[in-house]
Amino acid sequence: MLTDNLNRKIDYLRISVTDRCNLRCRYCVPAEGIAKLPPKEILSYEEILRVARVVTARGISKIRITGGEPLVRRDLVYLIKELHQLPGLKDLGLTTNGVLLKEFAPSLARAGLRRINVSLDSLLPDRYHWITGRDLYQQVQEGLLEAEKVGLSPIKLNVVALQGFNNDEILEFALLTKTKGYQVRFIEHMSFGDGYEPQFSTFSMFEAFGEINSYQKIHPVQRDGVAELYRFEDGIGVIGFISPISRCFCPSCRRIRLTADGKLRNCLFSDEEVDLKCILRGVGSDAEIEELLLKSISKKPPGHMLPATNINYHRRMPLIGG
Ligand code: SAM
Repeated sequence: MLTDNLNRKIDYLRISVTDRCNLRCRYCVPAEGIAKLPPKEILSYEEILRVARVVTARGISKIRITGGEPLVRRDLVYLIKELHQLPGLKDLGLTTNGVLLKEFAPSLARAGLRRINVSLDSLLPDRYHWITGRDLYQQVQEGLLEAEKVGLSPIKLNVVALQGFNNDEILEFALLTKTKGYQVRFIEHMSFGDGYEPQFSTFSMFEAFGEINSYQKIHPVQRDGVAELYRFEDGIGVIGFISPISRCFCPSCRRIRLTADGKLRNCLFSDEEVDLKCILRGVGSDAEIEELLLKSISKKPPGHMLPATNINYHRRMPLIGG
């Protein structure tokens, strides 16, 4: 079992397979864009699989593939198929914006993917277009239907709650759980503090909960990782609240991250990284990968410093992996 200096069990690795994305969400990517990683800096699937083999043998049992947008990377299905076969892996997930889901859901399911997280911040096509910069709402809805059809379950719908953008859609999203078996999860926006998202502020999960609960009482069910879950008496699906700001869950954080360019990062909000790529591309052994894994975990900070005001993180979300 892997534990850090605060005795937190670490068993979850998020792997970013690309920094590229087919959307331009206003709170994620600045209007001027983000400099792209040169392709040669991005880990190959074989390099990712080598890391995955070493860390799963050492106690990581849960992996989630993310990006950028993971489905824009060619042959992602191959990676999923190979990861699915790792003996130590108990839980394999994928986070996507759903734009390419209609095309890929069947082959992802055949490759062994069981569940999926889809990010969707509005149920109004015009608003979706405004926030993502792309008129692709319908395509995402078709992707969701296809995911249901091929049996990916649970489908977790991730909604970043933004005051002044979608706080008036909270109830509408929650009501989806009366007709769909989705886990609709509201997530507090985390500001990276460099001020390019001034039009948004965090909509607290206390407010989101209150709004839904005053419409119709919701009842707690067993939590799922960092999400506190509830359901309507007559709900099919469940409603989740993820509160990194108002109810910081750092003391129970179990995750580390592998960036698309091969850095192990022990916290979303810490630039403390170790470079695995130089081992992978040099003559480094698996034992050295394991050594860096332990080093990264031992330096995992106690918690983030949010809401940050003037910290200059050297990576933004798309370069870390959300
Ligand atoms: N493209 C994939 C997707 O859309 O799910 C994976 C990457 S995306 C960066 C992962 C998630 O991070 C999305 O749900 C996105 O809304 C969320 N996200 C991005 N920036 C965020 C921020 N500042 N605070 C909270 N969530 C954020």
